[in-house]
Amino acid sequence: MITLKNINKIYQQKNLSVHALKDINLEIKKGEIFGVIGSSGAGKSTLIRCVNILEKPSSGDVIVDGVNMTTLSNQELIKQRRQIGMIFQHFNLLSSRTVFGNVALALEFSNISDKSFIKKRVTELLELVGLADKHNSYPANLSGGQKQRVAIARALATEPKVLLCDEATSALDPATTTSILTLLKDINRRLNITILLITHEMDVVKRICDKVGVISQGQLIEQGSVAELFSHP
Ligand code: ADP
Ligand code: ADP
Repeated sequence: MITLKNINKIYQQKNLSVHALKDINLEIKKGEIFGVIGSSGAGKSTLIRCVNILEKPSSGDVIVDGVNMTTLSNQELIKQRRQIGMIFQHFNLLSSRTVFGNVALALEFSNISDKSFIKKRVTELLELVGLADKHNSYPANLSGGQKQRVAIARALATEPKVLLCDEATSALDPATTTSILTLLKDINRRLNITILLITHEMDVVKRICDKVGVISQGQLIEQGSVAELFSHP
C-alpha cells in the first residue's frame, strides 16, 4: 500500500544543509499498522510528511496504492491526497468551526457540496469516533481526546485507504492515549485502513503496531515485526 524507495531529504538553508532522510526503503502492506520510532530530530516528521508530499523528497519514489506520488502534478496530488488521511499531535482543528463544521470541511475541500450527503456522512463519522453528541461544540470546549477524535473523523471523511498519524497521542495523558490507540486499532480492523504512525514512545508501538521501523539520524536502522524487534531471548 505504501512503498518508499531510496528516499533522501536534504533541507537547504542559507549556508547549511541538513540531510534529514538517508536512503529510506520501506514497504507497508494493506491493512498493516506500521510504526516508526525514533528520538527527537531523527527524521520521523520528515518521513511521514514525505508520504503525502507535504515535504517533497529530494530524491527517491513514494508509491501509495500504486500511484507514484513524486511525479504527480499539483492538481493530481490534491486528488490523490484524498486517499491519505492525516492526524497531528496538536489536532489542527479550526477553532472558528464546530465539530460538525471541522469534519464537513474535509468534504467541502473535496468539492462535495450536497448538503444532505454531507450531513449524513459527518453524522456517520462522528458516530464512528464516539462523538455523536458533540456536533455543535467548538474545539475550545473539548478535551484533548475529543479533539483528536474530531481530527480522526475529519481524516476519514474522504474514505482514505491510508491514515498517517504524526505523534497523534503525544499531547494526551495515558488514559486518553489508550482510548485513542483503541479507536485507531478498531478503525484499522473495521475499515481495513493502512496506518503509518510516528512516535517517540515505545509503548505506542508495542500496543498497536504490527511492524516497526527504528529511525536514527535519518536512517532506518532496523525494521521488522514488533515481536522480532522487541523480543529479549
Ligand atoms: P523528528 O520528527 O524525528 O523530530 P524531523 O523530521 O523534524 O525529526 O527533523 C529531522 C532533521 O531535519 C532535524 O535535524 C531537523 O532539525 C531538520 N529539519 C526539519 N525540518 C526542517 C526544515 N524545514 N528546515 C531545515 N531543517 C529541518
Ligand atoms: P501544519 O501541520 O503546519 O498546521 P498542514 O499543512 O499540515 O499545516 O495543515 C494545514 C491545515 O490543513 C491545518 O489547519 C489542518 O486543519 C488542515 N488539514 C491538514 N490535513 C488535513 C486533512 N487530512 N483533512 C482535513 N484537513 C486537513
